[in-house]
Amino acid sequence: MVQFHRLRLSGFKSFVDPTELLIEPGMTGIVGPNGCGKSNLVEALRWVMGETSAKRMRGSGMDDVIFGGTGARPARNLAEVTLSVDNSDRLAPAAFNKDDDLEIVRRIEREKGSLYRINGREVRARDVQLLFADAASGAQSPAIVGQGRIGAIINAKPSERRALLEEAAGISGLHSRRHEAELR
Ligand code: ATP
Ligand code: MG
Repeated sequence: MVQFHRLRLSGFKSFVDPTELLIEPGMTGIVGPNGCGKSNLVEALRWVMGETSAKRMRGSGMDDVIFGGTGARPARNLAEVTLSVDNSDRLAPAAFNKDDDLEIVRRIEREKGSLYRINGREVRARDVQLLFADAASGAQSPAIVGQGRIGAIINAKPSERRALLEEAAGISGLHSRRHEAELR
């Protein structure tokens, strides 16, 4: 199981200034008044793991994750999120499995799309998604329950519920990799 260490954000949604969240073993709580950015933090976590849907990020396009400005501060053109994870159990795919610590970076520039890096090396979105595919984490993992999600699960179609169960059972990573293999 991947252990998240640290999440760093800059220019992401309401976190215009560089912000760091340390995730220690055990429970981490984030508290604060309505609108202070709690959900934005969880979205940053999903985003850096390869979330592709702007809608699931509560935006109309992916550029909406970039700080859009306030009365007091101008908008930014760039957002970056860095996730540090512990790989001492060597669970990462072979290509990224040399190091004890992995640093995953996703960066987006307005109108230019996203760029991903794992330990400084530029990679595809797919590589990042596969890195988390069977780690019970991942952008679409049932381990991340967003606001309003419980209601959505209750109302889900059987096929959607099956996908959730497969993810929970840790077999959806196998589907992803089988699909990858078939494409090659
Ligand atoms: P609640 O307790 O109501 O769930 P929350 O702490 O989860 O609140 P968030 O939804 O994370 O709050 O944050 C919402 C805030 O983030 C709003 O003030 C919104 O204007 C701001 N925000 C979202 N996207 C951007 C953006 N691209 N640029 C600037 N601010 C943004
Ligand atoms: Mg919220």
